[in-house]
Amino acid sequence: MAEGAETFAFQAEISQLMSLIINTFYSNKEVFLRELISNASDALDKVRYQSLTDSSVLDSEKELFIRLTPDKTNKILEIRDSGIGMTKADLVNSLGTIAKSGTKAFMEALSSGADISMIGQFGVGFYSAYLVADRVEVITKHNDDEQYVWASAAGGSFTITRDTQNEQIGRGTIIRLHMKEDQLEYLEEKTIKDIVKKHSEFIGYPIQLVVEKEVEKEVEDEEVEVKKEDEEDKPKIEEVEDEEEKTEKKKKTVKEITKETEELNKIKPLWTRNPDDITNEEYAAFYKSLSNDWEEHLSVKHFSVEGQLEFRAILFIPKRAPFDLFETKKKRNNIKLYVRRVFIMDDCDDLIPEWLNFVKGIVDSEDLPLNISREVLQQNKILKVIRKNIVKKCLEMFQEISEDKENFNKFYEAFSKNIKLGIHEDSTNRTKLAELLRFHSTKSGEEMTSFKDYVTRMPEKQKNIYYITGESKAAVENSPFLEVLKKKGFEVLYMVDPIDEYCVQQLKEFDGKKLMSATKEGLELEEDEDEKKALEEQKAEFEPLTKQIKEILGDKVEKVVISNRIINSPCVLVTGQYGWSANMERIMKAQALRDSSMSSYMASKKTLELNPDNAIVKALKVKVAEDKNDKTVKDLTHLLFDTALLASGFSLEDPSSFAGRIHRMVKLGLSIDEEDAPAQEHDDLPPLEEATAESKMEEVD
Ligand code: ADP
Ligand code: MG
Repeated sequence: MAEGAETFAFQAEISQLMSLIINTFYSNKEVFLRELISNASDALDKVRYQSLTDSSVLDSEKELFIRLTPDKTNKILEIRDSGIGMTKADLVNSLGTIAKSGTKAFMEALSSGADISMIGQFGVGFYSAYLVADRVEVITKHNDDEQYVWASAAGGSFTITRDTQNEQIGRGTIIRLHMKEDQLEYLEEKTIKDIVKKHSEFIGYPIQLVVEKEVEKEVEDEEVEVKKEDEEDKPKIEEVEDEEEKTEKKKKTVKEITKETEELNKIKPLWTRNPDDITNEEYAAFYKSLSNDWEEHLSVKHFSVEGQLEFRAILFIPKRAPFDLFETKKKRNNIKLYVRRVFIMDDCDDLIPEWLNFVKGIVDSEDLPLNISREVLQQNKILKVIRKNIVKKCLEMFQEISEDKENFNKFYEAFSKNIKLGIHEDSTNRTKLAELLRFHSTKSGEEMTSFKDYVTRMPEKQKNIYYITGESKAAVENSPFLEVLKKKGFEVLYMVDPIDEYCVQQLKEFDGKKLMSATKEGLELEEDEDEKKALEEQKAEFEPLTKQIKEILGDKVEKVVISNRIINSPCVLVTGQYGWSANMERIMKAQALRDSSMSSYMASKKTLELNPDNAIVKALKVKVAEDKNDKTVKDLTHLLFDTALLASGFSLEDPSSFAGRIHRMVKLGLSIDEEDAPAQEHDDLPPLEEATAESKMEEVD
């Protein structure tokens, strides 16, 4: 160990990741170079950004470059950049002691079959160095600190040493890879060139390769002579004799090895070229270098805007969502901002709205000032116009994708949540986005349906678009709420993604038709005056029953009414049109940080709707007419209420009393006498009202 070296232990998960990288059999090791070049480019971006407001940061090294130096003699490959460098604290934090969420996520992905080349997407690309090297040194100099060297041969620890041994670099980082014996091919000029071409062609800084060139050099006559004498120790006399040979030697040249740098990525920025001349392979390569994705993009939009304002942009939609798409705290560097070909920043929040956080790309503005600060940028009108255009182009792109069913399915699976979030947030584009939504429904079978297709299937008498929200397709498919709608031939959409609740709240209608929750009040099912009249009559007829049930249930329900919404079931619980649905209540309960004042205010006001044609309801009506205070009625009402809660998608407030009631019903069914049962079994159950066992069974039958 070098003198003054400090030893640190790798954080456990990082250590685990490193052994995995070292020990996994994996042939596509070349990705290490892409990752290290990408880090170099990031570091250069950072210092260039600083220099826009303080040009003195570049004094320590004026040129911005990435330089690859293979050294076959010592089996070393160096990747140097003149980027921001790392302070000692940066080294400790960034390279080994603090695990990112991606560390674990990447290992999990690997064990479920992911490819090592995906490493960059998980934010742990640096460790790919250990695919080809058994020892890595990171020599680094940040403007705010001395030069340090980080070193590790894996095995759980690394060292950091104040660096006085190596060449003092003005600013930046050298990643020095001590190559494994079987990875020496990566020191070959041709191999390096191929890899850079393949993975790093669009890096915005020159990538220089230090190559060894044999050059012919004329050597001074005398030198040759002296050399010849020394080497061969021939008698002088021979030389004098052979005049001819001597003159020949005067002209002779020797071969010498010199080092030269060659630039590997002399390519015009892709976005400045004419889209017609760009192949899909070129877009794919550009996308991959931009996004660290290992797969091609799903869709691309390359456009320019001219007029009072001028910019060019390329936007990409990936094939999949990243593993942490909705990790809200994470900054996403998805749209890179350039000003007149100069990279400015890749984390400008104002270029694209949050709900489009999966779109990647670049924007190159002709109008913004180069040395604009982040704060000023946020207020900038130009930026607002750019943003509006980006959103517009994204919508166009989605529309185009929707024309190809297979692609659209992929897109929808990955990003439907974003579309729904967009509907919630973006009132201007709500209608356009709603056209992209797809749901399963009572009529869609295996496929999903759009609102547009739904509308074409609506019978003439149907006025509204019906939907039901719930936990899953299975949970809503047989819901009692669908009974009457099915019977009438009205299609019902299944909205079973939690975000659907938020989305429909904002959407409210499509194509002039109201969106109606099948589980809320006011379904407007009466088709004509006769039906309305019949319902009014039933309401009057059942009033003693509904009144009595409301009295028994007290605050548990807002109202008890007769309704025409159910066909087979005795009753359901519906919620107010503007309050939470049962499903929303479930979602809010699941959110740990919910605002309790909000929940008491919004919590579903439940209406118990009774089916006047149901045998149970009819029998109860008779019971109440005979004796309003019949104990059986009270007990059965509670049971009906609890089962209605479950069937309507609510959770039980007191599951154990419910279970107690059911158990007693089971006992009645099996004719087990209450007295015979062991006492402790129903010790803590609420007393079943005095009614006798027989009479209860009769009622339920
Ligand atoms: P990511 O690039 O996604 O952050 P990496 O594992 O590739 O993840 O790199 C980890 C961190 O190490 C970087 O975020 C950066 O802070 C630091 N780093 C790596 N390489 C360099 C470099 N060449 N110059 C400066 N910092 C670097
Ligand atoms: Mg990286």
